[in-house]
Amino acid sequence: MLNKDRRSFIKTSALAGAGTLLTGTTTSASTPAGNTQGVQAYRRLGRTELKISDISFGSSRLRTGQEDLVHHTLDRGVNYFDSAESYTGGDSETVLGNALKGRRDKAYLVSKTLTSSSTRASTMMHDLEGSLRRLQTDYVDVYMNHAVNSVDSVGNPEWLAFVDQAKAQGKIRFTGISGHAGRLIECLDYAIDEDMIDVMLVGYNFGQDPAFYEGLTRGFDRIATQPDLPRAISKAKEKDIGVIAMKTLMGARLNDMRPYEQAGAQTFAQAAFSWALANPNVDALIISMTGKDQIDEYLGASGATFVTAQARNLLDQYAHLNGANYCRHACNLCEGACPYGVPIADVLRTRMYATDYEDVTFARREYALLESNADACLNCSGEPCQDACPNGIEIDKLCAPTHRMLSLRPGEQLS
Ligand code: SF4
Ligand code: SF4
Repeated sequence: MLNKDRRSFIKTSALAGAGTLLTGTTTSASTPAGNTQGVQAYRRLGRTELKISDISFGSSRLRTGQEDLVHHTLDRGVNYFDSAESYTGGDSETVLGNALKGRRDKAYLVSKTLTSSSTRASTMMHDLEGSLRRLQTDYVDVYMNHAVNSVDSVGNPEWLAFVDQAKAQGKIRFTGISGHAGRLIECLDYAIDEDMIDVMLVGYNFGQDPAFYEGLTRGFDRIATQPDLPRAISKAKEKDIGVIAMKTLMGARLNDMRPYEQAGAQTFAQAAFSWALANPNVDALIISMTGKDQIDEYLGASGATFVTAQARNLLDQYAHLNGANYCRHACNLCEGACPYGVPIADVLRTRMYATDYEDVTFARREYALLESNADACLNCSGEPCQDACPNGIEIDKLCAPTHRMLSLRPGEQLS
């Protein structure tokens, strides 16, 4: 059903896009720094009935002193702010709390906590209360089980006990899960079938969508990562679960794409957002916003409901430029290739934060959170994993340098 819908909107938009190319303008485009109109569309977040900005604020890289960024997005009409206790060591929530003081009624707030199959409800409540303190609020609108990658963790009965208690105490309005790793689909299917979530936040971009590859006109031998993801998203919508996309930029190598962008037409980021928003089963997306010009560029795609031919060309170009460099960490097809238990997909995801997002501090924090890392790669020939990636990623050449770049030196503290 989804693919049929998708094919029809791509066909329609290709016609619309043809006109776009002739006139040099698009429905929702702007030059990178030129959009000051702000949010153009608010969408219903499933059964929560919240009406949220279609392009919303991801705060994973929000740092001390950046309250002005939050004010800027609020002034541009963004009303949904996603955070987590782990982001920038809690500073992200503190900045959000400072910035929203006196404006709490203008924002929907989201936070998350990492859990395992053995985490106790009391620990989850402790984490939630820490987030509430930093956010300077009595409640969050949505609270999520963060970065799930195991059905055992999602099905931990302590989570449901915690949610019941937190809702009864008015600390949580709605609950959800977030994820982007290899076992995400299993987790989504379980949570949807058990009807235990109101919202889900999933890594979803054009490079993960079979419909994108169906439309490629040039020779391209890659396949969609997590081809089941559109199905899971569609299934969620059938249960009226709110769906939010993240990691919509497929690695965020924005600077690689500037030479291909045209003045007055959509930028690569806007094209990628259009792809996500054009999926009728996606309600909204979140994106890390780290500068005011960037925010204005991003919001230039607000209101998008289809992908123009010009935007499609940019996405094709990006896939060709970055296909062999981009670890689709959600695919996890290399799982088990390392005899020493290196979590290759997670290691390469943290590498992406450093090399593509150009945020080494964030990358080092995320690397430090991994249960195991790439330490073993320093003394390994690389032979076991060198052909393990069907997408051509040179795992054996990337993991050891990643460890050197992101691991803490003896006695070093995270900044
Ligand atoms: S290295 Fe290759 S197989 Fe492993 S997660 Fe990345 S893209 Fe998938
Ligand atoms: S280089 Fe060696 S230790 Fe590192 S992931 Fe590959 S097989 Fe494992």
